[in-house]
Amino acid sequence: MASDYGIVIHGGAGTILKEKMTPEREVQYREKLTASLRTGYDILENGGKALDAVQAAVKVMEDSPLFNAGKGAVFTNDGKNEQDACIMDGRTLNSGAVAGVRQIKNPIDLARAVMDKSEHILLAAEGAEAFAKLHGIEFADADYFYTEERWKQLQAAKYKEKMTQTDYSQLDHSDDKHGTVGAVALDRHGDLAAATSSGGMTNKKFGRLGDSLIVGAGNYANNRTCAVSGTGHGEYFITGVVSYDVSALMEYRGLSVEQAADMVVHEKLGRLGGTGGLIAIDRAGNFAMPFNTPGMYRGHLLKRQAPVVMIFQE
Ligand code: ASP
Repeated sequence: MASDYGIVIHGGAGTILKEKMTPEREVQYREKLTASLRTGYDILENGGKALDAVQAAVKVMEDSPLFNAGKGAVFTNDGKNEQDACIMDGRTLNSGAVAGVRQIKNPIDLARAVMDKSEHILLAAEGAEAFAKLHGIEFADADYFYTEERWKQLQAAKYKEKMTQTDYSQLDHSDDKHGTVGAVALDRHGDLAAATSSGGMTNKKFGRLGDSLIVGAGNYANNRTCAVSGTGHGEYFITGVVSYDVSALMEYRGLSVEQAADMVVHEKLGRLGGTGGLIAIDRAGNFAMPFNTPGMYRGHLLKRQAPVVMIFQE
């Protein structure tokens, strides 16, 4: 079903099982995903830019404790929140990204500022926060980011690590470590954009960074092909250059967005041993949302259609 404008979002992929989720919680997720879609869609409907739509949609999820981005970001091994975000404009191929920021309320806003107001693409940690101060980006303290659920997840991950004596790199991504958020959109001008924001992985150490902030790994947009946002075990998304690969299959092999996205998630990512999913949209409004995990929070809202939100294998 092609459409000439629309938005697709995700709120993370992982072991998301219906039997493990209370009906109340499921409603909360569905409502927040719908709110995110509507926020982005309103911008598109009013003739706004895809870039603004994806930023605004991601912000709604960053502000919710349900997702692993902004408020509700997962904890590092030493009990901190270190967040990554990236935004990319498919028209110009400009992008902005931040790595390991600790005090930024909406990392996606800072990524946008890096894109618009600096001559760089990627700023990290304290340096990124110094840049944020200069540009009036909103800060938040550790209490703001804290949620009891994420804290418990950290304790559980540490316990598991101790019991199994595995090092961090061997820990799986299965349990409750999902919740990265992302949005891709096509606007009325025919431009594509992608935005992704993540707290990374629970119990991460040594300044570990994920794929979300890396252009072509967790986030990519190119008007020649598509806009993509990924979620899952970031190391595999970096290795597989997953987001760019979807675009490259379209550009060089002429695959449709659905074929390219399916091939990357179900063949390539699987072959590498990686778990996760992605969302992608092309310039005709065709889109795909493949994942190889039990669930992925996701939804789409295309021109004059009703919002559709899904969580499990539906
Ligand atoms: N991709 C993110 C990372 O590895 C995590 C996730 O999507 O759940 O940092």
